Amino acid sequence: VQYWFICYALSLYAIGPYTSPFVMLLLVFPVMAFVVIGVRKVVYGLATFAVLLLVSTVAERLEMIPYAPLFVPTPLVDGRPHTSWILSLGAIPLLGSGLILVIFAYVVRQWRDREEQLRELSNTDYLTNLRNRRSFMESAETEFARAQRFDKSLAIVMIDVDHFKRVNDGYGHSIGDEILKLVGKILAREVRRHDVVARYGGEEFCFLLAETNGEQAWVMAERCRERIEAAELVVEGSAVRVTASVGIAAYPHQDITRVEQLIDLADGALYRAKHGGRNRVAIAA
Ligand code: GH3
Ligand code: MG
Ligand code: MG
Repeated sequence: VQYWFICYALSLYAIGPYTSPFVMLLLVFPVMAFVVIGVRKVVYGLATFAVLLLVSTVAERLEMIPYAPLFVPTPLVDGRPHTSWILSLGAIPLLGSGLILVIFAYVVRQWRDREEQLRELSNTDYLTNLRNRRSFMESAETEFARAQRFDKSLAIVMIDVDHFKRVNDGYGHSIGDEILKLVGKILAREVRRHDVVARYGGEEFCFLLAETNGEQAWVMAERCRERIEAAELVVEGSAVRVTASVGIAAYPHQDITRVEQLIDLADGALYRAKHGGRNRVAIAA
């Protein structure tokens, strides 16, 4: 950065700094450099530049050095512009503008990518890479409104791993985490492209199934339950297995006007599955 500002000061001295292109560049470059390089380094560069500019201006005023030595041969030779004139006021600023545009396009691109990454990150559960609860709720609100508006069916499926505390107590938290990842993978494989599968909380997962009625959701839930029961995680030679209980609620349903009520209904069904002996599916009446 220092090198750049020193070169800039020297080039400006050569063509005479007090011209409008100079002022324009001095505005544009540092502002972009603030974004790409960082404020502190650019401010140090600007300080060096200011000192050089001041020294050269004072020296010129005292007639110790010439102003714009590049133009000491006059700008016009036989009525035609000198090559140095064309280069300094035409070609070089044009190249400079091109460079500025390229850098600016790059900065904007970086900005967009980062924004996209942040959005993705804020919607993703870090352990399972499924959608997180916030993202699930957003989709649930939207889908529920759509189902209401167009008289479509919508199912919510809550899946809770059975006796998960025992897995943690028996094998440790990191094995517990591996089990959660495994369950997440199994569930992700079962959904269609437009369905939402999320980690709702600790060892609880959920589906949001658009245009799906209770019976269809049941078939899917039962398949997931079987796959979870059949899966095993091999830890030091022995297999760790878990089961899960599932609760389903489907819209349309009498008295349901908000998506939270539908979730509560699925939760109630899950509670019944647990109390009915676990490792089973229950649907809200
Ligand atoms: P139930 O069959 O009634 O659901 O019993 P449970 O033991 O699964 O339910 P409970 O709610 O008592 O315990 C849930 C456990 O899940 C407790 C908590 O330590 C564990 N848990 C929650 N989040 C995580 C996590 O991210 N990683 C691990 N390893 N464990 C977690
Ligand atoms: Mg549980
Ligand atoms: Mg639970």
